[in-house]
Amino acid sequence: MSIRDLTILGSSSQQPTRKRNHGAYLLRWNEEGLLFDPGEGTQRQFIFANIAPTCITRIFVSHFHGDHCLGLGSILMRLNLDKVTHPIHCYYPSSGKKYFDRLRYGSIYHETIQVIEHPVSKNGVVHQDEKFHIEARFLSHGVDNVGWRIKETNRRKFDKEKLDAHGIKGPIVKELTEKGAVKVEERTIKLDEVSWIREGDVFAFVMDTSYCKEAVDIAKKANLFLCESTYLEEHRDLAEKHQHLTAKQAAEVAKQAGVRELILTHFSARYLDLNPFIEEAKKIFPHVSVAEDLKVFPFPRS
Ligand SMILES: [Zn+2]
Ligand SMILES: [Zn+2]
Repeated sequence: MSIRDLTILGSSSQQPTRKRNHGAYLLRWNEEGLLFDPGEGTQRQFIFANIAPTCITRIFVSHFHGDHCLGLGSILMRLNLDKVTHPIHCYYPSSGKKYFDRLRYGSIYHETIQVIEHPVSKNGVVHQDEKFHIEARFLSHGVDNVGWRIKETNRRKFDKEKLDAHGIKGPIVKELTEKGAVKVEERTIKLDEVSWIREGDVFAFVMDTSYCKEAVDIAKKANLFLCESTYLEEHRDLAEKHQHLTAKQAAEVAKQAGVRELILTHFSARYLDLNPFIEEAKKIFPHVSVAEDLKVFPFPRS
């Protein structure tokens, strides 16, 4: 089975610290590499994480504050240098097109990679194929900022024992899938009798926002929910002023959304110890961890 994990390449907010690089998150899933919010220094963090950037297939930029995008140009240049032949899909809020272009062409290089842009201007589905169903929702941060919901496409699974019992195999399975039923020895076998739908797992990504309904919508029943918590409740006034979440509020979003696992990130440089984030969030939502640079979170199949 292919790798399924989330690598934290950085976990700071605006200002990096000795221990925390600007944010950047790599989700390896279904033979793809989904890179979220590549902040400054992301290229080098790949080296420390021992991961080749060539695995990147899609890049998501939530918004164009520097800590979420300053590494975009160097990552694209790196993919170019590595002569990546697969297309790189880039998703970002459409109002940030000029920043995207500046970052992409911020220095001299000969572009050979295929970058496919997907500017997002409204809530809804931005991509769908046999691997992923990707949705975007605008959050509440004073500037256009998008939360992402990545769902593995639902798959029909056959019960081999039942298929065998009815003598269904090879081209008859195909016929059953296409028509919804087949006739075997005078008996009609319906698709649902011998198969079931496996609901796809969900990864949700919410950065830089005040508490809002859209954040809950994005995270609904997610298996893994990566959420900003720039502040602790003791600095709730700052969280409100700058349109960010506290650890408590992130936990409330997770609880309301019924997620399985919450990972907090995007910590203000004022906090050296992250244990208070866990303590504060745990009172609301028990399954919580904090992101630390180069930490890898498994994303097991449910
Ligand atoms: Zn930020
Ligand atoms: Zn921001």
